[in-house]
This record gives sequence, structure tokens and C-alpha cells, in this order.
Amino acid sequence: MGKKLSLKELPIEGKKVLMRVDFNVPLDAESKITDDTRIKAALPSIQHVLDHQGALILMSHLGRPQGKVDTKYSLAPCAKRLSELIRRPVTLAPDCVGPVVEKLARDLKPGEILMLENLRFHAAEEHPEADPIFGEHLARLGNFYVNDAFGTAHRFHTSTAQIASYFPEKAATGFLMEKELAFLGEALLHPKRPFYALIGGAKVSSKLAVIEALLDRCDGLFVGGGMSYTFLKAQGMAIGDSIHEDGMLEEARRILKKGKNLYLPEDSLIADKIDLSARVRPIDHAAGIPAGWQGVDIGPKTVARYTAQMQQAATLFWNGPMGIFEIPPFAHGTFAIARAVAQLSAVTIIGGGETAAAIEASGVADRMTHISTGGGATLEYLEQGTLPGIEALSEVHSIK
Ligand code: ADP
Ligand code: MG
Repeated sequence: MGKKLSLKELPIEGKKVLMRVDFNVPLDAESKITDDTRIKAALPSIQHVLDHQGALILMSHLGRPQGKVDTKYSLAPCAKRLSELIRRPVTLAPDCVGPVVEKLARDLKPGEILMLENLRFHAAEEHPEADPIFGEHLARLGNFYVNDAFGTAHRFHTSTAQIASYFPEKAATGFLMEKELAFLGEALLHPKRPFYALIGGAKVSSKLAVIEALLDRCDGLFVGGGMSYTFLKAQGMAIGDSIHEDGMLEEARRILKKGKNLYLPEDSLIADKIDLSARVRPIDHAAGIPAGWQGVDIGPKTVARYTAQMQQAATLFWNGPMGIFEIPPFAHGTFAIARAVAQLSAVTIIGGGETAAAIEASGVADRMTHISTGGGATLEYLEQGTLPGIEALSEVHSIK
């Protein structure tokens, strides 16, 4: 992949910049934003356009409105929050395409911001092949296209990829996108060694490709969380009622055979139900997990062993919690590993929605080198080395 054109290289003065951001923030029942990290993450690109006398048109999706208008998923709370953060008015358009929106965009002055309404109110957003005209209508709004939505860059959607074809030599990466690619690229392409990976989370099936990609590149891959029970079952261990995927046992055996550098937990915290009031106890994997019990966290021996082994790390990538950290009695393993990772002098890169939340909850988020804003995008970038939303952008040599 050649080097992509950057927002910094665009002559935006007096021009309209159509920027795809990822404002897909979590909302509570009253449509209040519970975490504005993704809005804050886009501020450097937003500020750059305003500082350089560009007019800014922002577009994003929010939630899954299934291709229909659903006011529950209006971007109004995001427009309001952005306005507070940058202390400027942000106009919310009534839609993202159409004559009214086109007029709003046409009248927009340098330094002003127009936020388009949820792209996924139109089915064509997620299905550019079904209605390519949608992208053309969006493209009319701006002179340049900037993609700063790293978290959605693994989707070939209209606003994340297809639209770039209407901006030949004028489709650029935003600063968040560049930062994500720089950090993940370091872990992926030029990791300082030893390079270790910690992989957890509920399911093997959702992480199989990334496990394989990492196994080829890292010096040690430490498995934890629910997915470890599929591997352990594949080795013949009794796993009681632990979460596992019987359909993945063959794959798990294949990976175990291939991965000499793959480490599995030696012990678990087991519980008789998934609840605050559950009875819990640590158990050695040599003994197996009895029926009626399930593994909910890595045990103390595993914490000690993983912690000791990762001490030499020069680079560490972590995706997937080590247990059901959302329930406090099951969070010890994940939090202990988070503290251990925070103390490393290594480059530490975190990916994944729940993993980021777990590290936030453990209180050591500011000690990590980089916490990616992407979940699926982070993993797919590690697997493929690129993403559809990046591929679609202009190469750097092409700027006029
Ligand atoms: P991320 O969003 O960081 O990529 P995943 O979505 O893969 O992470 O997995 C996170 C979820 O896995 C968490 O919500 C956690 O409760 C769950 N999980 C971790 N360990 C277990 C376990 N032993 N049993 C059941 N669920 C688990
Ligand atoms: Mg998740």
C-alpha cells in the first residue's frame, strides 16, 4: 500500500471538507452520551480544518437504525457535545443528502460546521452496491473527502470507502486514522522484540484470524478469557459449564499444533453462576472444572506466569479481557494483568471495545502507549495490514 494523502496536505482554505468521523458513541435510555471518547478523538482533525479556514461538513453513523429514520439514533446529542467541546455552533442538518442539505452545505462559511444526520437512516450507507447514487449525493457536499473514522474503516460502506471514488486525488486520511495506523503498524510491521500478545474475550471464532496472524509474528501469545476454554477442551480438559464453541475444536487443535509460542491458562477462578452472589473458587486446570461450575477469570497462577513472562516485552498488544470483568468478583485477573502491562517499559497497544473499558475500569489507562478507538477495525488491520476505508483513499504522489 502506497502512502496515503493526509489532511495536513490538503489546500483547504475557502474549501468545503466532507469528513467521515466515528461518532458512534454509547447512549443511555435518555439519549445522553455516556462516553465521548470518540468525539474527542476526532478533535485534532476538526480543529485543523477550522484553523485553516475550511468549512467543515461532518458525517457519521450512530447505532443500527436499519436503513430507516429512527429519532432514537439522531446525531443531535453528538452535535451538541461537539459544540460544547470546541465552543462553536454546530448546525445539525435534517438529513445527510437532498436539496435542503445541499443548500446548507453551499451556504456554509469557512470556520463553520455542519453535522449531517445519521448516515444509516439510508439503507444505501451500508449497501453501496445497491444504490451507488447515495455516495454521489454525499460527495456533492464537499471539495475534499477526509476519512477519520478508524473504527468503521473495516467496512466497505458508502461514506467509509465508496465515496472516495468521487474525490480522485482529493481523498485523505484524518489525524486519528493516521495515529491509529502508526501505532498499530508499529505492532504489526516493525515490532520491537520480544513482541508479546495477550488475547482474550468470549469467543475463539471472532478472533481466529487475528490469533493466526499474531502467532506468525509474535514471540509469545497468551490466551485468556472465555475463549481459552475451547482450547482447553480441545486438549481434553474437563471444562464444566464454561463458555466454549464445539464447532471450533478442530480449529483450536490445528492452532495448538502450529503455535509453539501459544500459552494457555493453568488455572481459573470458577463460579457456580454468573452473578455477584455466585460462589467462587480458584481451581487448577490439572484437576479440571467440575460440572455445574464455569471459568469466569484466569486464576492467580496464570496471572503470575503471564506477568513474569511479559517482563521482557519490548512490544505488547492486548485484545480481549481475561475474564468477565464486568462483574467485580470476576475482575481480578483482568485488572492484575492491566496493572502488570501498565508497569512495562514496552510499547503497549490496546485494541477492542471491552478491553479498553476494562483498562479504563482498572485505573491504568493513562499508562498505556496507545488505546485504539477501534474494535473490529483494529483486529482486521492486524490481520490484513490494511482496511477498505484506507485502500480507497488517494495515494500521496497524486496531490495537485
Ligand atoms: P473486545 O471488545 O475487547 O474485543 P470481546 O468482545 O472479544 O472483547 O470480549 C469481551 C467479553 O468477553 C467481555 O464482555 C467478557 O465478559 C467476556 N468474557 C471474558 N471472559 C469470559 C468468560 N470466561 N466467560 C464468559 N465471557 C467471558
Ligand atoms: Mg467486544
